Formats: sequence, structure tokens, C-alpha cells
Amino acid sequence: MERSADLHIHTTASDGRFSCEEVLERAQASHLQAIAITDHDSVENVERAIALTSESDLEIISGMELSAVDYGQDIHILGYLMDIHDVHLQEMLDAFREARYTRAQKMVLNLNAIGVDLKFETVLKQAGSAPIGRPHIAGAMVEEELVYTFDEAFAKYLNFESPTYVHKMEITVRRAVDIIHDAGGVAILAHPGTLDNPDEIIAKLIPQGIDGIEVYHPEHNHERIKHYLELTRQYGVLVTGGSDSHGSQSKRNAIGGSTVSYASVRELKKYQERNYQQRSLS
Ligand code: AMP
Ligand code: ZN
Ligand code: FE
Ligand code: FE
Repeated sequence: MERSADLHIHTTASDGRFSCEEVLERAQASHLQAIAITDHDSVENVERAIALTSESDLEIISGMELSAVDYGQDIHILGYLMDIHDVHLQEMLDAFREARYTRAQKMVLNLNAIGVDLKFETVLKQAGSAPIGRPHIAGAMVEEELVYTFDEAFAKYLNFESPTYVHKMEITVRRAVDIIHDAGGVAILAHPGTLDNPDEIIAKLIPQGIDGIEVYHPEHNHERIKHYLELTRQYGVLVTGGSDSHGSQSKRNAIGGSTVSYASVRELKKYQERNYQQRSLS
């Protein structure tokens, strides 16, 4: 029988808590047919996952998650099936990584200025080799006992509205889509349910090269799922889905907790093959 796929998983190569090996173990225990590792601004664990599963029947789809800013909102774009060795893609990911480092330094300085005595070294330790994200800063604040919980760090200091917040390197959705397409990949709008006025935003983004919508996501209830499925039919775009697992913090985001049918994975691959041939001819 054909099983399902979880196409949205973070690892320690970005702000997830599970290593590549831990993710694979859990994916196999959940009897998934395919998974995509979609770290923020990193494809570091994609190749590792492929190598580690060469003897198993778990299929690895190459992935990543880019953040864009458009219409005053943080909009996440998932990239699938890119050539992860593409030189331009690697250059872009390096630039994002550097910008994230500087941004984290600034956020720590801002926190210090309001009397929160966080050390940048603790943030670096939390991030390890990953591009630094706010969850690493939150983890460092917990470690230094400046807050009681991870959520408290976000609620008090790390959210979009906080005066100590610093934006990431700002790219538009169109730019994110181009980066993905130029590396031979497919661009999917991640978790539209988390946006303000999602339907309006979707209507504006589809003509900018978005190839599909992440329909299945823990933030989407049944009604939302039905609605986004309907939109994918209306616009004639792809359907994807996944758990957006970041580790063990919450049950809702458990690996395999939100999935898409393997039929949709097949559509994704067919679409990529067709479009990549067209792009390399033009
Ligand atoms: P960044 O890319 O550095 O801006 O961090 C974004 C990541 O922080 C998201 O992908 C989530 O994993 C996490 N995040 C954002 N908001 C919250 C929140 N309110 N509570 C917990 N985690 C959050
Ligand atoms: Zn994340
Ligand atoms: Fe996201
Ligand atoms: Fe994510």
C-alpha cells in the first residue's frame, strides 16, 4: 500500500532539536514513504539523509525553507527538488547565514541595552553549525535563566513587535521563488494559514511563480485544509503538506503528524521534471 509523506521537517542544521539521524529514525517508525528535510536557509542535512537512507525504503526529497518579506509580512517559501550543489544556491545560502549571524549579534546588543544580560557565546553554542535563528536565542535565554521558558522568550523579547527584534536579510517572495527555480526546484507557499489575509496574499503570489500551496500543516484545521485544497484546484497548482516538526517540544508537530499523500509527491516530481527541462532549454 502506498503510504504518506511528511514534506516539512527541521533538524539541527537549522532550528530543529533532532539530528538528521533522529529524524530518520522517527520517520521510519512512523512508516512514512517519503520525507523532506526543510531547514531554514540550509540544505546541509539533505545529502546526509540521502546517504543514510540508501539501504532503506524511505525516500528523501531535497528541501529547504526560505523567509521572504512582502506585503508587510514574513512569508515562508518551501523549495523542493533543487540541485543542492548548485553554486548560486550555495552562495545565496551562505549570504543568508552571514546575515543571520549579524542579525543575532544585533538582537543580543538590543537585549543588553534594555538590561537583559544575554551572552552572544551562549547563542552560538545553541546554534552549533546552523544558521542562527530566534529559537537559538530563546534557547540561550533559557540556558542563562533570563526567562523560565522558550515561549516566554518569544512572548517578551523575540516576537515581530518587540523593540529588540531585528529583521533578517529581506528578500521578496519573487526573489525566493527565483532562487529556488534557478536551482531547478519547485516553490511552495508554506503554511498560508499563519498569514494575515491569506487568500488575498495567495491571489497576489500565484502570478509571481509560486508552484503550489502547503495544504496540510498543524496550523490548518479541517476547514482550512478543505479551503486550501479548493484553492489549489482553482489555481491549478500543486498540493504539499508536512508536520513542520522542530523536535519534541509539542505533540502537534510530531514527525508524521501532518502528511500529504504520496500521489502528491509524484505530482511534485513530475512537475519538477517537466519544468526543469523547460527552464534549461530557455
Ligand atoms: P527566525 O527565522 O530566526 O526569524 O525564526 C523563526 C522561527 O522561530 C520559526 O520558524 C519558528 O520555529 C520559531 N518561532 C517563531 N515565533 C515563535 C513563537 N511565538 N514561539 C515559538 N517559536 C516561534
Ligand atoms: Zn523554524
Ligand atoms: Fe515556516
Ligand atoms: Fe518550518
